[in-house]
Amino acid sequence: SNLNWASFAEELAPVATISEPVLVKKRSRDFFWYSPILNSQLRRSFGDLVALPKTPEEMAHCLSVAYAHDAPIVLRGGGTGNYGQAVPLDGGLIIETTAMNRILDIGDGYVTAEAGANIEEINAALHAKGWELAIFPSTQDIATIGGFIAGGSSGIGSVAQGMLRDPGNIISLKAMSVEDTPKLRLFEGQDVNQIHHAWGLNGVITEVTLRTVPHQKWIGCMATFDSYPKAYGAGYALACAPDIHRKLVSTVDARICAYFPRLADHLRPGKHLMTSLVPVEDMDAYRALIAEQGGTVDLAMSETELKAAKLPHVFEFAYNHTTLQVLKADRSATYLQVGCPTPPDPAAITDLGPKLGDDVWQHHEFALLDGQIVSFDLPIVWYSTEDRLHEIEATYEANGFPVYDAHVCMVEGGGLKNADYRHLAWKKRMDPKGLLNSGKSLEWENVKHKTPEEIEAMIPE
Ligand code: FAD
Repeated sequence: SNLNWASFAEELAPVATISEPVLVKKRSRDFFWYSPILNSQLRRSFGDLVALPKTPEEMAHCLSVAYAHDAPIVLRGGGTGNYGQAVPLDGGLIIETTAMNRILDIGDGYVTAEAGANIEEINAALHAKGWELAIFPSTQDIATIGGFIAGGSSGIGSVAQGMLRDPGNIISLKAMSVEDTPKLRLFEGQDVNQIHHAWGLNGVITEVTLRTVPHQKWIGCMATFDSYPKAYGAGYALACAPDIHRKLVSTVDARICAYFPRLADHLRPGKHLMTSLVPVEDMDAYRALIAEQGGTVDLAMSETELKAAKLPHVFEFAYNHTTLQVLKADRSATYLQVGCPTPPDPAAITDLGPKLGDDVWQHHEFALLDGQIVSFDLPIVWYSTEDRLHEIEATYEANGFPVYDAHVCMVEGGGLKNADYRHLAWKKRMDPKGLLNSGKSLEWENVKHKTPEEIEAMIPE
């Protein structure tokens, strides 16, 4: 962008800024490199300047200065998104939230924190008072709570508590507009979904209040099975078990486990894995379930025991961490995001396996969706060409497994298949110049001259 960034930085004072190109470039990236397609599209997209506001007042000042200069703005938390959500497509100002990180209030069943608060630190503060987040991402050690609410959808806890968007999981949030004098609005109840999962396109989240649940002494469990469908069947049984309070149920093909060197001394080699979090009181019921399903419990350790054994959290072998473990060894791997027929059925998985081919290794997460246990597949794909990737997607779709494209950086492309006109109407109210995360919504270009009410009229019945 042809703005004078040195004088822009002066106008931002007293807000701290970073202008060294190497450091700005580092903060212009997220985990888009999981996708060879996004990697070639985004690896040369960089911002011009980074601002690090410490308070909502400093945030408002950043937004007001950017508004005055028509400068594109990208919000950044921990930068762990997978679709280039935090990559500036048009250069401009990157606002990193990590200095605006206070935990404001912990009460019965809720926590209120500023958007830049680190999720692990929130959980640690909650544990000290007997609580924990109902849902958190496997990236908790790096990710911010605002980034999770703006970019995420589910995570550890979703098998019991559902999706973030479900009533009560996000209790409220505050979002700021990009105007001469930015306004702060409170969204409560189901209205949080006006802003949640819009990738920071339609407002700057400054504060969130999330549901918490009583803290339990979790045992990280890993059980192994002779076939993948058996592991999957056991995963479904555990996800549905009425007497076991599980917080995570995840299954991976044995070929993926070969990429978990830190678990080599703990797991039976060549076997298919189910990873879960089970409260210590329910371990007898868990062990009985695994035996009944024909599996073996290879590892069962508390968080303290895992630390002593120099092992990571077990959830670092689940969700998109599974893919990361493989990518650490071999950058030619990538992944897909695929829905599965409901109810989960091992026979459908057995049937699909050979149709997919040897370059696709399955990995499933179990979650509660609209009151039912469902599974979704985050397979490892050994990437050869874009055509082959699309052929694999077509095989999934033809067999009744809907694909959510993980290889596009448009908000309409992946998790949300269609344009979200609620989000776009709020974008018009909160960001009338279209500066926030510019270029990430295809449909915005078509509606940006309409009024918010006209955009809302486009919401399908
Ligand atoms: P960022 O990547 O910094 O930002 C994400 C998006 O939110 C961007 O569009 C950014 O512009 C916007 N944003 C950030 N802060 C704000 C703000 N204050 N206001 C408005 N917009 C903002 N996701 C899950 O949902 N569940 C998982 O279990 C999960 N596991 C993952 C595992 C790995 C290994 C990786 C790489 C990713 C995973 N993800 C998962 C995706 C991602 O980590 C999560 O969405 C994460 O919580 C994002 O937080 P962040 O602070 O890193 O956000």
